[in-house]
Parts: sequence; C-alpha cells; structure tokens
Amino acid sequence: MKAKIEAFMDEVKTRNGHEPEFIQAVQEVAETVIPYIAKHKIYNGKNILLRMVEPERLISFRVAWVDDDGEIHVNRGYRIQMNSAIGPYKGGLRFHPTVNASILKFLAFEQVFKNSLTTLPMGGGKGGSDFDPKGKSDDEVMRFCHAFMLELNRHVGPNTDVPAGDIGVGAREIGFLFGMYKKIRNEFTGVLTGKGLSWGGSKIRPEATGYGTVYFAQSMLKTKNENFEGKTVVISGSGNVAQFAAQKAIALGAKVVTLSDSGGYIYDKDGIDEDKLAFVMDLKNNKRGRISEYIEHYKSAEYHKGKTPWEVKCDVALPCATQNELNAEDAKTLLSNGCICVAEGANMPSTTDAVHEFIKAKILFAPGKASNAGGVATSGLEMSQNSLRISWTREEVDARLKDIMEDIHESCIEYGKQEDGFVDYVKGANIAGFVKVADAMLAQGVI
Ligand code: NDP
Repeated sequence: MKAKIEAFMDEVKTRNGHEPEFIQAVQEVAETVIPYIAKHKIYNGKNILLRMVEPERLISFRVAWVDDDGEIHVNRGYRIQMNSAIGPYKGGLRFHPTVNASILKFLAFEQVFKNSLTTLPMGGGKGGSDFDPKGKSDDEVMRFCHAFMLELNRHVGPNTDVPAGDIGVGAREIGFLFGMYKKIRNEFTGVLTGKGLSWGGSKIRPEATGYGTVYFAQSMLKTKNENFEGKTVVISGSGNVAQFAAQKAIALGAKVVTLSDSGGYIYDKDGIDEDKLAFVMDLKNNKRGRISEYIEHYKSAEYHKGKTPWEVKCDVALPCATQNELNAEDAKTLLSNGCICVAEGANMPSTTDAVHEFIKAKILFAPGKASNAGGVATSGLEMSQNSLRISWTREEVDARLKDIMEDIHESCIEYGKQEDGFVDYVKGANIAGFVKVADAMLAQGVI
C-alpha cells in the first residue's frame, strides 16, 4: 500500500512540484483514500483520485487598479474551479499577499471534500488575489474589488460558481464585489454568499464557521462524556472564524485565554469574556487594529510578539488563523500540557507532522475540512434562501447548522472508527467526502 501511495504522489509531484501546500493537502487525502479505493472494486482502475487532483479549470487574470494618489497597481487574480461533480463550484476568495496557485489549489482541493461532507449540492472551488487589503483605504479596496469582478464575473454565476469570503475578504469586500457583478450582469442573483442581511445574506453566516467548529468539538467531547464547561481554550487568529469560535466557546462555559494575529498572541489569564471579545471585534472589524492593542485596555493580559499560542496550557485548542500555523513541536507541547481536543477552524493549520502527532496520541483531532465546514454549509443555506426568495430566522439557520455539524461528525465516525474505538477523524472525513464525489464522477463518465 505504501508503494501505491508513493507512486501516486510521485505523479502528483511531477505535475505540481513547485506547489508545496497543494502536495501536502493531496498527501493527507492519498494516505487514507488510496487504501479505501484498493478495498472497493467499483473505484479500481478508474484513476478517480488522479482525476480529482487536477482542477477542472484554473483561471488566472490581471487586476489593474488605481490607488488614492493616482498610482496604478497590478495584482494577480485567480479562480480555481476544482470539481463540479455534485454541484456548482463553491468556495471562498482570499485576498492576502501570500496568495498563489499552490495555496488556492490546496484550498480548492480541501473544499471539494468539505462541501461533499455537508451533504449539500456544492462542488469545490477557491479564488483570490495577492492584493493586501491591510493599510488600504475603503475607496482603494472598492476600486480593487470592482476591478477584480470586472474579469471574474464572466466565470461565476448562481448555477456555475458561487464565491464567498475567506482571509481578507469580509462583508465590506463582498459588498463591493456584489455591486459590480450586479451592474455588469444587470441581475440580482445569489452569485456570492456572505452578503449583507438587507440584500440577500443569511442570518448566522458570519458566525457559522466559528460556531460550527465549536459545535463539532462539542460532538467530539461528548464521545468522551466531556463538554466545554470549565475548559481552558486556546484560539489562534482574531478574524472572522476566531471571533465567533471564541463567542460560542464562552457561551458554552469555556474560559478562552488567547487570540492572535500575524504579529503575535495575547494571553489573558482571567479569560476573554463577552465584553472583552466585543472590544476585539470592534478593534479588528471596525478600527482594523492589531491584537497587541488588547493589552493597553486589559492590563492583566500579556502580549507575546512573534509567537503562536500553542505554548499555553489548555484543554482544547482551536487553530483559526491560517495554514501551517501549528507544527510538530507545537503539537508535542500541546500534548504534554494535557490538551485533549484540537478542532481546526482554519484550513490545514496543522502541518502533516503535527497531524501525525495528534493521531499517534489518539486525542480528539478534527481536520478543518470537517470541523470548519459550517461556514460553507451556511453559505449553501444562503443559496437555498436566495433561490426560494425567502429568509429563515436566526434560530432556524442555527438549528440547521447544528444538525449539519452533527451529521458530519457521524459520517466521520462511520468511516473513521478503528477497532479499538479510537476515531480517526482525518480518515473519516477524507473517505466520507471522497465517496459522494467519486460516485457522482463514476455516474457521469470520463469527462
Ligand atoms: P480573517 O481575514 O477574518 O482573519 C484571519 C486571521 O488570521 C487574522 O487574525 C490574521 O491576522 C490571521 N493570519 C492570517 N495570516 C496569518 C499568518 N500568516 N500568520 C499568523 N496569523 C495569520 O480570515 P478568516 O477568519 O475568515 O479565516 C481564517 C481561516 O479560516 C483561514 O484558514 C480560512 O481559510 C479558514 N476558513 C474561513 C471560513 C470563513 O467562513 N471565513 C470558512 C472556512 C475556513 P492578521 O490580521 O495579522 O493578518
């Protein structure tokens, strides 16, 4: 089996040798899915995984825009349309200087499995640009978003490809993107999710990824007769996912002690309560400030510049910032400090070696494609509401989100439970996600 996986990865590396993040994401899936394929005849000889790692379409385009001083800038825009076997492409847009084809292909590949896990009819895609919204005025962000949509509009649509937000793309950016799409196409449709509530957005969509991550962790803890009450929780990031993961964890009685950004992390030994979190939300969402400013207001807190929060003793860790932010050393530190549960809010925040450490130690570990699927699931619910031209209440959407997260947890158990009772959520998520997409691809023939 090892040789089979190596042969497959050699082929992937030959074609994508300069794309380390993409190779990492494929490796993680290949390790668990290739043994499954070998045991299931219907997938034999169909080269199904090789077909799944090749994007159906990769679009790259120039985005030229003018800053407030009249200077012209050029960025690169992308949309990766990875797999449409079970529905229109669906996945976020990321605006960050590190964005390149490798990062977007890894995200698009993960998205295929994640969307399949939600059981909603959504294919997988991802896009974005190396544009950095940080330090730009609202007008500059608007001009960039408009220029980006001038090209993207011809590749997306409510039945073709429905983008959403991701790092650097929040409510402000979605508004500007939607405005330009509507103007060019002269139609008001659900082409983007994460829209404002008064123009087609879904209640709970901003909260969904963070809440869903905590709901998933709650389901995992329940299998050990545990819950969030009184648990010390360490969270990385302070953006959309981190904020609402913190909010839900606090609501369930946990003590959240850290948040971070790319500059470092804050540690509040007294716990970040609702009021302190409201301060962080205002700081990050309205003032667009840095997390280090927290300690100017809350004197008992510490700021650790240039560090990640994994050195802090905790029961539960929720990495909610970015890819590869938690390495094998961090995993060992978390384990030796007694951490019993890690649920990924971000996409691929743990390195491959870190994942192996968690699985070797047999703790509760959820990969992002399962635990952060609540965001895209609620985007799916936004698409349904748009199509039906109705709006569900907050309670309705939250209840559906909870049900979906519980169903994903059950699917992971179905495919990931080992003979000794340990649940390998990585294996479970990969196989459950694979089966639905692979079956649809088989039914549709070689295309
Ligand atoms: P935001 O832009 O709202 O927040 C990102 C946070 O991560 C910020 O605090 C940012 O700090 C930090 N961060 C970004 N890059 C780095 C880095 N290189 N090192 C350390 N910290 C970094 O994004 P989201 O909260 O939306 O996304 C966070 C993660 O969750 C991503 O992996 C995303 O793909 C994933 N995700 C998001 C979903 C969503 O619905 N939004 C859905 C599913 C997954 P700084 O301000 O300094 O850059």
